[in-house]
Amino acid sequence: MSSKDWIEKDFYAVLGVDKAASADDIKKAYRKVARESHPDHNPGDPKAEERFKAASEAYNVLSDSGRRREYDEMRSLFGSGAFRRNARGGGQPGGMPFDVSDMFGGGAGGDRRFGGAGFQDLFSSIFSGGQAGGQAAPRGPARGRDVETEVGLDFGDAVRGVTLPLTLRAPGVCDTCHGNGAKPGTQPRTCPVCHGAGVTTRNQGSFSFSEPCRNCQGVGTVVEEKCPECHGSGGVTKTRTMNVRFPAGVADGQRIRLAGRGEPGERGGPAGDLFVHVKVRPDELFGRTGDDLTLTVPVTFAEAVLGTDLRVPTLDGAVTLRVPPGTPSGRVLRARGKGVVRRDGQAGDLLVTLDVVVPARLSDEARTALESFAEQTPPAAREHLDARVRRVS
Ligand SMILES: [Zn+2]
Ligand SMILES: [Zn+2]
Repeated sequence: MSSKDWIEKDFYAVLGVDKAASADDIKKAYRKVARESHPDHNPGDPKAEERFKAASEAYNVLSDSGRRREYDEMRSLFGSGAFRRNARGGGQPGGMPFDVSDMFGGGAGGDRRFGGAGFQDLFSSIFSGGQAGGQAAPRGPARGRDVETEVGLDFGDAVRGVTLPLTLRAPGVCDTCHGNGAKPGTQPRTCPVCHGAGVTTRNQGSFSFSEPCRNCQGVGTVVEEKCPECHGSGGVTKTRTMNVRFPAGVADGQRIRLAGRGEPGERGGPAGDLFVHVKVRPDELFGRTGDDLTLTVPVTFAEAVLGTDLRVPTLDGAVTLRVPPGTPSGRVLRARGKGVVRRDGQAGDLLVTLDVVVPARLSDEARTALESFAEQTPPAAREHLDARVRRVS
């Protein structure tokens, strides 16, 4: 119940008493209505139940002299319930000099007419106990929240695609107490500080300011015997396990959206989405550029000069690559179709970079052979550099 409900509800009419009724009269009237409409005497009668609840609410306020005075003041300040929820649609506020839609934040720039932010602040303070739509009304279906998580994949699994069980831990409503935090068989009690309103009201001059009740954190009820499962919080951490299919070729840093696999919706609303951030663990041999896999293969000077056939690994076996005679260092050879298989069935390539390795040590025989080789070989083609060196030195 919010302060706005106070304006809209006629608690005196609910109890069938006059505005000037004494505390005693109010108590008697409440007892009578409560007895007549008690759910135990009217099983399965929603109207009686409604009346019973309304009477309790009315008595909660009118039985407390301080709150009754606040209620009376607010009702007289805002026109004795002369406007209702249809105020937005142009209802006439009884005797009020302004369009009430401004009070609910619906008016376009309306607050300016009252000299700036002061009025707006006042109203948002008064109505802070509930949304503009009225918090007593049942809320509609709500979509579940989106969930984000991160998953580490092995390099090969990311290339080939993989299905993994994914365990999510997320806050959910406690099944034991259905979220009210009370031990099964008990009920949360109306908060004795705010009498169920969830807000406490402070008077300043002729205005009242509302703020969330500190005793019940604005809930309006307090739990005396706590639910053993959730210790009174109404919430528990729920673990969900599901199998998630990662498509072939999923890349590091990619975000996969799984529609409807997030948190379940409330009151029949759709579930949220699950977003999975993919972290791909590096492979000790292969790298990856888009759909191509990369691999660096060391070759000797002789292999590069004379040519050779290289047997190199792929992710799913091995291939033989022909290195033609006279292949320079850094040359990239391509093994077609040995890369990442794309969704359309086409595959990237395996790109093999040749790295000519210079030996750090030579046997005597090798040194002799190499010196002999050098004598037989023309010098490296660096005349253009030599010319520049002569010019600058
Ligand atoms: Zn619980
Ligand atoms: Zn309270």
